[in-house]
Amino acid sequence: MSAVGTVMRFVTHRITRHPDSEVTATARCLNPDCTWEVAPTADVKQADVECMAHTGATGHGIFARKFEDVAVVVRTE
Ligand SMILES: [Zn+2]
Repeated sequence: MSAVGTVMRFVTHRITRHPDSEVTATARCLNPDCTWEVAPTADVKQADVECMAHTGATGHGIFARKFEDVAVVVRTE
C-alpha cells in the first residue's frame, strides 16, 4: 500500500490523570528469601510506613515500589 496521496491529519491531544482515579502504590521486598509486599493502596505514605516497619522487623531494606494511575487522553482541537 502506497502512502502517496494519503492525507496526514495531525490532531493534538492532552493526557491527564483520569478524574475518577488516584495514584495507587505497591511495594515489594527485594530480599531473595522474602515474599513480603504492600497490597495496592491509595495511601502512598502508608505504603512507605509499612516498608519501614518491615525493615525494622526483618532488616530487609530494599523494595521495588510501583506507582500507578489511570490516564485519559482527549483531543484538544
Ligand atoms: Zn523482606
